[in-house]
Amino acid sequence: HELLAAQFAGAVLNARAYAAERARAEALAELDRAKTAFFADVSHELRTPLTLLLAPIADALSGVALPPAARDQLTLALRNGQRLQGLVNDLLEFVSIEAGRTAAVRVETDLPALTTELAGVLRAAAERAGLELTVDCPPLGRPAFVDPRMWEKIVVNLVANAVKYTFVGAIAVTLRADGDVITLQVSDTGVGIPAEELPHLFERFHRVAGSPARSREGTGLGLAMVRELAALHGGGIRVSSEPGAGSTFTVTVPFGSPDAVTAAPTAAPS
Ligand code: ADP
Repeated sequence: HELLAAQFAGAVLNARAYAAERARAEALAELDRAKTAFFADVSHELRTPLTLLLAPIADALSGVALPPAARDQLTLALRNGQRLQGLVNDLLEFVSIEAGRTAAVRVETDLPALTTELAGVLRAAAERAGLELTVDCPPLGRPAFVDPRMWEKIVVNLVANAVKYTFVGAIAVTLRADGDVITLQVSDTGVGIPAEELPHLFERFHRVAGSPARSREGTGLGLAMVRELAALHGGGIRVSSEPGAGSTFTVTVPFGSPDAVTAAPTAAPS
Protein backbone atom coordinates (compact mmCIF):
# COMPACT_ATOMS: atom_id res chain seq x y z
CA HIS A 1 0.00 0.00 0.00
CA GLU A 2 2.76 2.35 0.97
CA LEU A 3 4.51 1.70 -2.30
CA LEU A 4 1.31 2.32 -4.26
CA ALA A 5 0.64 5.50 -2.31
CA ALA A 6 4.17 6.72 -2.97
CA GLN A 7 3.82 5.92 -6.68
CA PHE A 8 0.50 7.72 -6.78
CA ALA A 9 1.94 10.78 -5.04
CA GLY A 10 4.85 10.72 -7.48
CA ALA A 11 2.49 10.58 -10.45
CA VAL A 12 0.45 13.49 -9.10
CA LEU A 13 3.59 15.53 -8.62
CA ASN A 14 4.76 14.69 -12.14
CA ALA A 15 1.41 15.64 -13.62
CA ARG A 16 1.48 18.92 -11.69
CA ALA A 17 5.01 19.68 -12.80
CA TYR A 18 4.04 18.89 -16.39
CA ALA A 19 0.96 21.12 -16.24
CA ALA A 20 2.99 23.95 -14.69
CA GLU A 21 5.71 23.60 -17.33
CA ARG A 22 3.12 23.61 -20.11
CA ALA A 23 1.39 26.66 -18.71
CA ARG A 24 4.76 28.39 -18.48
CA ALA A 25 5.61 27.52 -22.12
CA GLU A 26 2.20 28.74 -23.28
CA ALA A 27 2.55 31.98 -21.33
CA LEU A 28 6.00 32.52 -22.88
CA ALA A 29 4.70 31.83 -26.39
CA GLU A 30 1.86 34.26 -25.80
CA LEU A 31 4.29 36.90 -24.57
CA ASP A 32 6.37 36.33 -27.68
CA ARG A 33 3.35 36.81 -29.94
CA ALA A 34 2.35 39.95 -28.07
CA LYS A 35 5.89 41.32 -28.39
CA THR A 36 5.93 40.70 -32.15
CA ALA A 37 2.49 42.25 -32.63
CA PHE A 38 3.55 45.23 -30.55
CA PHE A 39 6.68 45.77 -32.64
CA ALA A 40 4.64 45.47 -35.85
CA ASP A 41 2.12 48.07 -34.66
CA VAL A 42 4.75 50.48 -33.41
CA SER A 43 6.76 50.15 -36.63
CA HIS A 44 3.71 50.88 -38.77
CA GLU A 45 2.89 53.92 -36.68
CA LEU A 46 6.46 55.24 -36.91
CA ARG A 47 6.83 54.86 -40.65
CA THR A 48 4.63 57.71 -41.90
CA PRO A 49 5.72 60.45 -39.50
CA LEU A 50 9.34 59.48 -40.12
CA THR A 51 8.90 59.86 -43.87
CA LEU A 52 7.16 63.21 -43.36
CA LEU A 53 9.98 64.32 -41.10
CA LEU A 54 12.83 63.29 -43.37
CA ALA A 55 11.44 64.55 -46.70
CA PRO A 56 11.61 68.26 -45.78
CA ILE A 57 15.10 67.81 -44.30
CA ALA A 58 16.30 66.23 -47.54
CA ASP A 59 14.60 69.07 -49.47
CA ALA A 60 16.25 71.72 -47.35
CA LEU A 61 19.65 70.12 -47.91
CA SER A 62 19.24 69.97 -51.66
CA GLY A 63 17.80 73.48 -51.94
CA VAL A 64 19.35 76.90 -51.52
CA ALA A 65 22.75 77.49 -49.97
CA LEU A 66 22.69 76.94 -46.22
CA PRO A 67 25.07 78.25 -43.59
CA PRO A 68 27.65 75.47 -42.99
CA ALA A 69 26.59 74.92 -39.37
CA ALA A 70 22.94 74.47 -40.37
CA ARG A 71 23.96 72.09 -43.16
CA ASP A 72 25.96 69.97 -40.68
CA GLN A 73 23.06 69.83 -38.24
CA LEU A 74 20.56 68.88 -40.92
CA THR A 75 22.91 66.26 -42.37
CA LEU A 76 23.24 64.70 -38.93
CA ALA A 77 19.46 64.74 -38.44
CA LEU A 78 18.94 63.15 -41.86
CA ARG A 79 21.54 60.44 -41.27
CA ASN A 80 20.11 59.44 -37.92
CA GLY A 81 16.56 59.60 -39.21
CA GLN A 82 17.55 57.28 -42.03
CA ARG A 83 19.08 54.89 -39.52
CA LEU A 84 15.84 54.86 -37.62
CA GLN A 85 13.98 54.27 -40.87
CA GLY A 86 16.23 51.28 -41.58
CA LEU A 87 15.48 49.85 -38.16
CA VAL A 88 11.75 50.31 -38.60
CA ASN A 89 11.91 48.64 -42.02
CA ASP A 90 13.89 45.73 -40.55
CA LEU A 91 11.27 45.26 -37.86
CA LEU A 92 8.47 45.25 -40.39
CA GLU A 93 10.31 42.88 -42.68
CA PHE A 94 11.05 40.54 -39.82
CA VAL A 95 7.45 40.48 -38.72
CA SER A 96 6.32 39.76 -42.28
CA ILE A 97 8.82 36.90 -42.62
CA GLU A 98 7.64 35.48 -39.31
CA ALA A 99 4.03 35.72 -40.42
CA GLY A 100 4.90 33.63 -43.47
CA ARG A 101 4.11 36.36 -45.97
CA THR A 102 7.58 36.31 -47.51
CA ALA A 103 9.02 33.59 -49.72
CA ALA A 104 12.50 33.21 -51.16
CA VAL A 105 12.60 34.15 -54.84
CA ARG A 106 15.43 32.03 -56.16
CA VAL A 107 17.37 33.33 -59.11
CA GLU A 108 20.78 32.29 -60.37
CA THR A 109 23.17 34.41 -58.35
CA ASP A 110 26.92 34.83 -58.54
CA LEU A 111 27.35 34.25 -54.81
CA PRO A 112 31.15 34.57 -54.69
CA ALA A 113 30.94 37.99 -56.41
CA LEU A 114 27.96 39.18 -54.36
CA THR A 115 29.46 38.02 -51.06
CA THR A 116 32.82 39.62 -51.85
CA GLU A 117 31.09 42.86 -52.80
CA LEU A 118 28.98 42.97 -49.63
CA ALA A 119 31.91 42.16 -47.36
CA GLY A 120 33.89 44.84 -49.21
CA VAL A 121 31.26 47.43 -48.32
CA LEU A 122 31.66 46.53 -44.64
CA ARG A 123 35.47 46.48 -44.85
CA ALA A 124 35.57 50.27 -44.39
CA ALA A 125 33.69 49.95 -41.08
CA ALA A 126 35.97 47.10 -39.99
CA GLU A 127 39.12 49.05 -40.85
CA ARG A 128 37.87 52.15 -39.09
CA ALA A 129 37.54 49.92 -36.04
CA GLY A 130 41.13 48.70 -36.50
CA LEU A 131 40.09 45.21 -37.64
CA GLU A 132 41.33 43.22 -40.57
CA LEU A 133 38.63 41.75 -42.81
CA THR A 134 39.54 38.94 -45.18
CA VAL A 135 37.22 37.51 -47.79
CA ASP A 136 37.78 34.16 -49.45
CA CYS A 137 35.02 33.30 -51.91
CA PRO A 138 36.33 31.16 -54.79
CA PRO A 139 34.01 29.99 -57.58
CA LEU A 140 31.53 27.37 -56.37
CA GLY A 141 31.77 25.18 -59.46
CA ARG A 142 28.05 25.12 -60.20
CA PRO A 143 25.24 27.67 -60.39
CA ALA A 144 23.59 28.75 -57.16
CA PHE A 145 19.92 29.74 -56.99
CA VAL A 146 19.13 31.96 -54.02
CA ASP A 147 17.20 35.12 -53.26
CA PRO A 148 19.89 37.81 -53.62
CA ARG A 149 18.12 40.32 -51.34
CA MET A 150 17.90 37.73 -48.62
CA TRP A 151 21.50 36.67 -49.13
CA GLU A 152 22.50 40.30 -48.73
CA LYS A 153 20.72 40.49 -45.38
CA ILE A 154 22.38 37.28 -44.21
CA VAL A 155 25.91 38.45 -45.07
CA VAL A 156 25.44 42.03 -43.87
CA ASN A 157 23.92 40.98 -40.54
CA LEU A 158 26.64 38.46 -39.75
CA VAL A 159 29.56 40.66 -40.78
CA ALA A 160 28.10 43.76 -39.08
CA ASN A 161 27.74 41.70 -35.88
CA ALA A 162 31.33 40.50 -36.18
CA VAL A 163 32.49 44.14 -36.39
CA LYS A 164 30.22 45.19 -33.54
CA TYR A 165 31.38 42.45 -31.16
CA THR A 166 35.11 42.42 -32.00
CA PHE A 167 37.61 44.84 -30.48
CA VAL A 168 40.93 43.41 -31.66
CA GLY A 169 41.94 41.04 -34.39
CA ALA A 170 40.29 39.95 -37.56
CA ILE A 171 37.12 38.88 -39.29
CA ALA A 172 37.15 36.20 -41.96
CA VAL A 173 34.40 35.60 -44.49
CA THR A 174 34.54 32.38 -46.49
CA LEU A 175 32.23 30.76 -49.00
CA ARG A 176 32.52 27.12 -50.03
CA ALA A 177 30.69 24.47 -51.98
CA ASP A 178 30.16 21.53 -49.69
CA GLY A 179 28.47 18.69 -51.55
CA ASP A 180 24.91 19.83 -52.27
CA VAL A 181 25.09 22.88 -50.06
CA ILE A 182 26.77 26.25 -50.00
CA THR A 183 28.50 27.12 -46.76
CA LEU A 184 29.05 30.71 -45.67
CA GLN A 185 31.25 31.20 -42.66
CA VAL A 186 31.85 34.43 -40.74
CA SER A 187 34.51 34.12 -38.03
CA ASP A 188 35.72 36.75 -35.64
CA THR A 189 38.21 37.13 -32.81
CA GLY A 190 35.67 39.02 -30.73
CA VAL A 191 34.09 38.89 -27.30
CA GLY A 192 32.55 35.46 -27.85
CA ILE A 193 29.31 34.10 -26.41
CA PRO A 194 28.90 32.12 -23.17
CA ALA A 195 27.86 28.48 -23.72
CA GLU A 196 24.58 28.90 -21.82
CA GLU A 197 23.53 31.68 -24.23
CA LEU A 198 24.08 29.65 -27.39
CA PRO A 199 20.69 27.85 -27.36
CA HIS A 200 18.87 31.21 -27.19
CA LEU A 201 21.01 33.19 -29.60
CA PHE A 202 18.66 32.88 -32.59
CA GLU A 203 15.50 33.72 -30.66
CA ARG A 204 13.97 37.02 -31.61
CA PHE A 205 14.76 39.98 -29.36
CA HIS A 206 17.37 37.93 -27.52
CA ARG A 207 20.51 39.86 -26.64
CA VAL A 208 23.31 38.59 -24.44
CA ALA A 209 23.10 40.64 -21.25
CA GLY A 210 26.27 42.58 -20.51
CA SER A 211 27.91 41.56 -23.77
CA PRO A 212 30.53 44.22 -24.57
CA ALA A 213 29.80 45.72 -27.98
CA ARG A 214 31.23 48.47 -30.14
CA SER A 215 27.82 50.08 -30.30
CA ARG A 216 24.74 49.55 -28.20
CA GLU A 217 22.52 49.74 -31.24
CA GLY A 218 20.50 46.65 -31.98
CA THR A 219 17.22 44.93 -31.51
CA GLY A 220 18.16 41.30 -31.02
CA LEU A 221 16.40 40.62 -34.32
CA GLY A 222 19.41 40.24 -36.62
CA LEU A 223 20.26 36.61 -35.90
CA ALA A 224 16.60 35.58 -35.70
CA MET A 225 16.14 37.11 -39.15
CA VAL A 226 19.25 35.37 -40.53
CA ARG A 227 17.93 32.05 -39.26
CA GLU A 228 14.52 32.64 -40.89
CA LEU A 229 16.13 33.69 -44.17
CA ALA A 230 18.33 30.59 -44.25
CA ALA A 231 15.26 28.46 -43.40
CA LEU A 232 13.33 30.07 -46.28
CA HIS A 233 16.04 28.59 -48.52
CA GLY A 234 15.76 25.18 -46.88
CA GLY A 235 19.00 25.83 -45.01
CA GLY A 236 20.11 26.71 -41.50
CA ILE A 237 22.61 28.42 -39.26
CA ARG A 238 24.88 27.25 -36.44
CA VAL A 239 27.40 28.89 -34.19
CA SER A 240 30.46 27.90 -32.25
CA SER A 241 31.99 30.33 -29.83
CA GLU A 242 34.40 30.74 -26.99
CA PRO A 243 34.10 33.70 -24.65
CA GLY A 244 37.09 35.96 -25.04
CA ALA A 245 38.36 34.13 -28.11
CA GLY A 246 35.73 34.65 -30.81
CA SER A 247 32.78 33.23 -32.68
CA THR A 248 32.10 31.44 -35.94
CA PHE A 249 28.67 31.58 -37.56
CA THR A 250 28.03 29.04 -40.32
CA VAL A 251 25.11 29.34 -42.72
CA THR A 252 24.31 26.50 -45.10
CA VAL A 253 21.84 26.67 -47.97
CA PRO A 254 21.23 24.17 -50.77
CA PHE A 255 22.35 25.13 -54.27
CA GLY A 256 18.68 25.07 -55.21
CA SER A 257 17.00 25.21 -58.57
CA PRO A 258 15.36 28.12 -60.41
CA ASP A 259 11.96 29.32 -59.26
CA ALA A 260 11.80 26.85 -56.39
CA VAL A 261 9.86 28.96 -53.95
CA THR A 262 10.19 27.72 -50.39
CA ALA A 263 7.45 28.75 -47.98
CA ALA A 264 8.28 29.92 -44.49
CA PRO A 265 8.55 26.83 -42.29
CA THR A 266 7.76 28.62 -39.06
CA ALA A 267 4.72 30.64 -40.05
CA ALA A 268 3.46 32.33 -36.92
CA PRO A 269 0.00 33.81 -36.50
CA SER A 270 0.08 37.55 -37.21
P1 ADP B 1 21.71 42.63 -31.97
O1 ADP B 1 20.81 43.59 -32.66
O2 ADP B 1 21.64 42.72 -30.48
O3 ADP B 1 23.11 42.63 -32.50
P2 ADP B 1 21.46 39.93 -33.02
O4 ADP B 1 20.24 39.09 -33.14
O5 ADP B 1 22.20 40.23 -34.27
O6 ADP B 1 21.01 41.24 -32.27
O7 ADP B 1 22.42 39.22 -31.99
C1 ADP B 1 21.88 38.77 -30.75
C2 ADP B 1 22.96 38.80 -29.69
O8 ADP B 1 23.97 37.81 -29.97
C3 ADP B 1 23.71 40.12 -29.60
O9 ADP B 1 23.05 41.05 -28.77
C4 ADP B 1 25.05 39.68 -29.04
O10 ADP B 1 24.99 39.62 -27.64
C5 ADP B 1 25.25 38.28 -29.60
N1 ADP B 1 26.12 38.24 -30.79
C6 ADP B 1 25.74 38.25 -32.08
N2 ADP B 1 26.80 38.17 -32.91
C7 ADP B 1 27.89 38.09 -32.12
C8 ADP B 1 29.31 37.97 -32.38
N3 ADP B 1 29.81 37.91 -33.62
N4 ADP B 1 30.13 37.91 -31.29
C9 ADP B 1 29.63 37.95 -30.03
N5 ADP B 1 28.33 38.05 -29.73
C10 ADP B 1 27.45 38.13 -30.75
